[in-house]
Amino acid sequence: MNKIIEIQVPDVGSFKDIPIIDILVKPGDVIEQEATLVTLESDKATMDIPSSQAGTVKEIKVNVGDKVSEGSILLMLEISESSTATNTRSSESNKISMPVAPPPPEITDIKTEILVLGAGPGGYTAAFRAADLGKKVTLVERHASLGGVCLNVGCIPSKTLLHISHIISEAADVEKHGVTFSAPNIQLEKIVAWKESVVKKLTDGLAVLAKRRKVETITGNAQFISPHTVQVDTSEGLKTVRFEQAIIAAGSRPTQIPGFPHDDPHVMDSTDALALQDVPQKLLIIGGGIIGLEMATVYHALGSQITIAEFTDSLIPAADKDIVKPLHKRLEKRYDNIYLNTKVTGINPQAEGLQVSFEGGKAPDAPVLFDKVLVAVGRQPNGLRIGAENAGIQVNEQGFITVDKQQRTNVEHIFAIGDVVGNPMLAHKAVHEGKVAAEVVAGHKSYFDAKTIPSVAYTDPELAWMGITETEAKAQGIAYEKGSFPWAASGRSLSLGRDEGVTKLLFDRESKQLIGAGIVGPNAGELIAEAVLGYELGADVQDLGLTIHPHPTLSETLGFAAELAEGTITDLFAPRRKPW
Ligand SMILES: Cc1cc2nc3c(=O)[nH]c(=O)nc-3n(C[C@H](O)[C@H](O)[C@H](O)COP(=O)(O)OP(=O)(O)OC[C@H]3O[C@@H](n4cnc5c(N)ncnc54)[C@H](O)[C@@H]3O)c2cc1C
Repeated sequence: MNKIIEIQVPDVGSFKDIPIIDILVKPGDVIEQEATLVTLESDKATMDIPSSQAGTVKEIKVNVGDKVSEGSILLMLEISESSTATNTRSSESNKISMPVAPPPPEITDIKTEILVLGAGPGGYTAAFRAADLGKKVTLVERHASLGGVCLNVGCIPSKTLLHISHIISEAADVEKHGVTFSAPNIQLEKIVAWKESVVKKLTDGLAVLAKRRKVETITGNAQFISPHTVQVDTSEGLKTVRFEQAIIAAGSRPTQIPGFPHDDPHVMDSTDALALQDVPQKLLIIGGGIIGLEMATVYHALGSQITIAEFTDSLIPAADKDIVKPLHKRLEKRYDNIYLNTKVTGINPQAEGLQVSFEGGKAPDAPVLFDKVLVAVGRQPNGLRIGAENAGIQVNEQGFITVDKQQRTNVEHIFAIGDVVGNPMLAHKAVHEGKVAAEVVAGHKSYFDAKTIPSVAYTDPELAWMGITETEAKAQGIAYEKGSFPWAASGRSLSLGRDEGVTKLLFDRESKQLIGAGIVGPNAGELIAEAVLGYELGADVQDLGLTIHPHPTLSETLGFAAELAEGTITDLFAPRRKPW
């Protein structure tokens, strides 16, 4: 004999008045025990409510949009007496209170189409693009604010502080031209507050953009526990997110040197340095790369005496030496020491400061005392810190995840972008990879096929390069012609009181197309964009030389460099070269 029973909402923990977003059965359906009946969604979680009995649905008692709590009747189910008899969990009164409450992870279960792990420039871009393409996206970030390293402790705070340092050094530079300012009065708290307000404006803006796109954000540390699940450790407890596809954008962290006292408050990484707790009198920066030199620029302007120790034979080793030279010359005059080919072998904390030992180059043999040390020797990808092995994702020993041109990992439905997939670790690379991954998960045939990823050091002077460097062209035996225009012949550069800049363009000897550019001088970071566009569009030497650049601007130096390569320049006396 059959009978009709009520199916109610089981124990759903502390959740109350949860809206029904989907009803998955209708009258007449024959359902199995545990079949999903309805889906509920609160602002914190999505829950599937299963049936406690097998049977035939007779009547649905709720509608989509209704709010339900534990005990609310969902539907009437016809079951056979025998199944009731065997089901010891059903109640005497035929009211089905849920036999056993689903285990806690089920309750906090969130189901999503696209999980994005990490909300840096790569992650938030991927999340927003995927949402714009119609996907249901969940973005997990362990920090309360979105934006990752770049917005919170990287690109944006560093450029905000560099703006201040540029004003200080420009004010000092103009003294020789007859304008004298009194020494700056540095109010560190106000500078820090301004930097933080810039960061907050941007990160708050991202939160608004996420909300408007209905991207669900979860704050907590995420670890893969299977190929389709991550567990997120949130302030409200563990949450499990089940996803169809995932995009990993877990980024990177500062590299530490084994044996160095990184826990000592006087030993800083870039995040500590940007916090700007004080202005140390004597600051050693280990690493003459972009981040080290940008922080040197900031602290020098605020009053620190700077020493740089660089392991290789050049500052910014990735750029051509002729482009680095003007920067080196200017810094040499301002900083206490620049030790090249030098290894820091030990940091010994003492009461009076940090005693640092060096090896190689022209560094002193005896240890030297510094008030603070900034370790800026690169960044480590976070690929080994996300439980990738539980999803079967291949991660190399360094922590990089290997991806193809569609940003796909070795696991078909999991993608990775940004710092965690390789060098160069730059925000604009992460952003473009994020868009590709989002488009691919949404079914588009997108590929990452940028010809070049430009690099910029926002030092003083700035340094920027793209495409192939001259060093690489020589090493690879590429036949090239170059135009290297000295800014001493640029009216605009001289009017800024600066003449050390250089704009160098490299052209393929056969096709005459632009293949590389290196620029040093104020605003080099803005100027490189023209070269990047020219390279992407396949511009040749005439395209650049015959393009009318506004006068007097620094952008003219690109046109002049092309004219120089072609032999058509009149702003310099450059002996006519053989046609090429
Ligand atoms: C001082 C400094 C200055 C810089 N300046 C520039 C610049 O001028 N221009 C430029 O292009 N680049 C710059 N960079 C580099 C730039 O910040 C990075 O390339 C960029 O942030 C990488 O973006 P991403 O999305 O790959 O990762 P990230 O920005 O590193 O973001 C990754 C996010 O993932 C989160 N995350 C990681 N693991 C988990 C987990 N298990 N669970 C939850 N969340 C997790 C992290 O908290 C982080 O928010 C700078 C970096 C530094 C340190």
